[in-house]
Amino acid sequence: MVLGGGFAGIGAARKLKDSEVDVVVVDKHDYHTFQPLLYQLATGLLETTAVGHSLRDLVKDQDNATIHKAPITGIDLDAKEVRFEGLAPITYDYLVLALGAEVNFFGTEGAAEHAFPMYTLPDAMRLKNHVLARWEAADKDESLVDEGALTVVVVGGGPTGVETAGALAELYRDNFVKDYPNLPQEKARIVLVEAGEEIFAMFKPNLREYTREALEKRTVEVVTGARVQSVSPTRVTLASGEVIPAHTLVWGAGLQGNSLVQSLGIELQRGNRIGVGPELELADYPGVYVVGDVAAITDSKEEQVLPQLGSVALQSGEHVGATIARRVAGKSTKPFAYKDKGTMAAIGRHAAVVQMLGGKTMKGRKAQFAWRSVHLALLPTNEDRAKAVVDWVGSELTHQRVGRITVDVDE
Ligand SMILES: Cc1cc2nc3c(=O)[nH]c(=O)nc-3n(C[C@H](O)[C@H](O)[C@H](O)COP(=O)(O)OP(=O)(O)OC[C@H]3O[C@@H](n4cnc5c(N)ncnc54)[C@H](O)[C@@H]3O)c2cc1C
Repeated sequence: MVLGGGFAGIGAARKLKDSEVDVVVVDKHDYHTFQPLLYQLATGLLETTAVGHSLRDLVKDQDNATIHKAPITGIDLDAKEVRFEGLAPITYDYLVLALGAEVNFFGTEGAAEHAFPMYTLPDAMRLKNHVLARWEAADKDESLVDEGALTVVVVGGGPTGVETAGALAELYRDNFVKDYPNLPQEKARIVLVEAGEEIFAMFKPNLREYTREALEKRTVEVVTGARVQSVSPTRVTLASGEVIPAHTLVWGAGLQGNSLVQSLGIELQRGNRIGVGPELELADYPGVYVVGDVAAITDSKEEQVLPQLGSVALQSGEHVGATIARRVAGKSTKPFAYKDKGTMAAIGRHAAVVQMLGGKTMKGRKAQFAWRSVHLALLPTNEDRAKAVVDWVGSELTHQRVGRITVDVDE
């Protein structure tokens, strides 16, 4: 039983293809979400199907796999049973917990109601539709511009915040400037707010500096050492008391393990994550494996908890799938060893940063190429890779963002 069809869950399921087992994958969505490209969907660069891929399609050649679309409501580790909404409970022999992470607003006033998180496909669609709606509203009533209708505050100076701020700035300055020629671009601000002293704290100083310059060149206002205290539909208030008129606040500042884990009756680590042993198995529950963002996996070499990254999720999921296959076949198993592909982030067109394991760094076009190569490898199928390349090359040549339309299903 695989709970969650993200990188980790799909990685595990696929490794069981040739094994003598029945694989049941359950996810509340009928699609796999490619989170690293959500910001490109939110800013119209990619379309929905480039970021969400049908789960059934991903296992269509795997005869031993079944997909169910159902929200998981409870997991009984002692009874080896999982409960769902609208689906009868299912018992298991082996369990792969791959439920990912969810947004953490750290109790910021008004954030749950008014902020736009960037963690799911609906999140990205909501942000895109909201930004488009604000520009359309200002197009009809220009007084809204001074009210902050076109201003976006992005919270969090990590990859999610930086990538979103950079992409929004390009959407504004390359596309909206032509789409809405009568609206004053200079009053449409993109403000990136980071509580720490620097953005991209996980990168070396030269990459941090480069990132700040690349963002500012794209007209993003970078504010560090500032904390968002509260959010309302039209105002963002900082802890310093400064009030920014802004109708949009994007939250890229915090994650926590899926809240379902709180009901498991086991001890949790920082950020709601589940600690696992070297084979990614849960102590006291043999046959239960925890992988991806919801797991706190200690790197065997560095003795540090691995970051919540797509490559960690995919590799840990695949490792567990292979481990179960070996156990079923009566073969020996081995501990998980993470192969680090480097830490990287995209800031905008021809601007990205990469930091390799040995400390080597890259920036600019070269880094963008490396970023794209690594992310293409993470995409689940060759068609998805081809589609992403076509969209990227197309936008590079034309600066077009084909997805900047609103489809109202309730009209
Ligand atoms: C905006 C953003 C940008 C990122 N950029 C990068 C990047 O550039 N490079 C990189 O390596 N990593 C990046 N990451 C991190 C990476 O996407 C995650 O580490 C990875 O998706 C984790 O995979 P996972 O399988 O553990 O969880 P997920 O991909 O989150 O999958 C969990 C699955 O569980 C399902 N689920 C959750 N709760 C329930 C429930 N109650 N019932 C049923 N199903 C449920 C969800 O629908 C989901 O399909 C980014 C993340 C975000 C949010």
